[in-house]
Amino acid sequence: MSRRRRKRRAVKSGRVVEVLILVVLFMLLIIPLSIKDKNVEIEVGTNYNDKTKITYLGIDISDFVDIVGSIDTTTVGEYELTYKWGIKSATQKIKVVDKTAPKIEMQGGSTIYVQSLDNLDNIDPGVVVTDNYDKDIRAKRERNKISETEYEFVYTATDSSGNVTIEKRRIVMATGVIYLTFDDGPSNVTPEILDILEKNDVKATFFIVDYSEEDKETIQRVINDGHTLGIHGISHDYATIYSSVTAALENFTDLKEKLLNDFGYEATFIRFPGGSSNTVSKKYSEGVMTKVTEAVEQEGLVYYDWNVDVNDAGGARTASKIYDNFVEGIASKRENVVLMHDGFGHEATAEALQRIIDYAKYNGYEFSAISENTVPVQHSVNN
Ligand SMILES: [Zn+2]
Repeated sequence: MSRRRRKRRAVKSGRVVEVLILVVLFMLLIIPLSIKDKNVEIEVGTNYNDKTKITYLGIDISDFVDIVGSIDTTTVGEYELTYKWGIKSATQKIKVVDKTAPKIEMQGGSTIYVQSLDNLDNIDPGVVVTDNYDKDIRAKRERNKISETEYEFVYTATDSSGNVTIEKRRIVMATGVIYLTFDDGPSNVTPEILDILEKNDVKATFFIVDYSEEDKETIQRVINDGHTLGIHGISHDYATIYSSVTAALENFTDLKEKLLNDFGYEATFIRFPGGSSNTVSKKYSEGVMTKVTEAVEQEGLVYYDWNVDVNDAGGARTASKIYDNFVEGIASKRENVVLMHDGFGHEATAEALQRIIDYAKYNGYEFSAISENTVPVQHSVNN
C-alpha cells in the first residue's frame, strides 16, 4: 500500500519537472535578444559603426552575433541591420539623414558700392552654393529696397532635405570720390603713371617740385591730359623751406611763377612738404606752420593735405603693400584724398596703380582731379 503510494508520488513529481522544463524552454524561446541602439540616426556621408551591444538575459553576446544587411551611408534613406544569434534575432533601424544646410559663398563681398542703382541685375556678382549631399543647388534671389540709396539681395538655398541657408548682400549707392595725388614728381615714374591714368580715363592731381628742361614734356602732358597741376614747392629741403614764413611762402610762389612763365598755367593748389601738420619745421622756425598756412591763403593758394596715406614713401615699398594700404584707407560717402608719390624710385606706386583703380571702380568710387569745387582736406597744424 505504502509502496504504491510512493510510486504514484514519483510519477507526479516527474511530470512537474517535465512541465517546468517546458516552461523554461518556452520562456527561453520568447525572451528576445536585447539591443542597445534600436534606432540610430546618422548624418549622410559619415561612417557608421555597426558594433552595438547585444545581450541575452543580461549576458553580453555581441561578439557571437552575425550581422545581416547593409547601409549606404552616402545615400539618404532608412536601413535595417539584423543581428542573429541562433534562432534569435534583433533588428536595428538606421536612418541616414541630411541635416547639413548648404553653404552660400558670396562673390564680390557682402556690401557692394555702385554709382547707379538702375541696373541691379547686372550688378550682382553672384553666389556659389555648395552642399554636402545635393550636387546642383542654386540660390533663389530676392530683392528688397531698403532706401533710395540702398538695396538688399537675399539669397536662399534649400537642399533636398529641406535645410535652408540665407545670406544677404547690401547694394549701396556710392558717393565716395577719390582724389589720387602724386607728390615729388616729375620723374621717370610720372609718364608710366600718366599712361595708366589715360588708359583708365582717370584724372588725378600732381603736386610737383622743381623741374628741369627735360621734364617740361611730362608737365605739359599732365596739363594736356586734364590732370590738375599742383605745387609741392621749388625745394623739398625742410631746412631751407621752413627757415622762415617768407621762405615757406616763396617756396610755393617761385614755382607758381615758373609754371606760369613756362606753360601759362596758373596753379592754385598746393601741398606743404611734410604736410601742414608736420613737426619737422619746429627745428627751423617755431610757429612757422601757423603763420604760413594763413599766408598762403592770402596769396590765393589753397593747401591740401590727405586723409588716405598709401605709405609709399614710408614702409610700403611693394605694389601689393601699397594696394593693401589703399584698400584699407579709403571710405565711402566721403572725399578721399590719397597721398602717393611719383618721384624717383617710386616704381612700385606705378605698379600698384592699375589694381588700385580697378578696386575703386569695382566698388563704385569715382575719381576726380582736385578742383575749386573740392573741399580741402587739411590736417591740424602742429607748429
Ligand atoms: Zn614730398
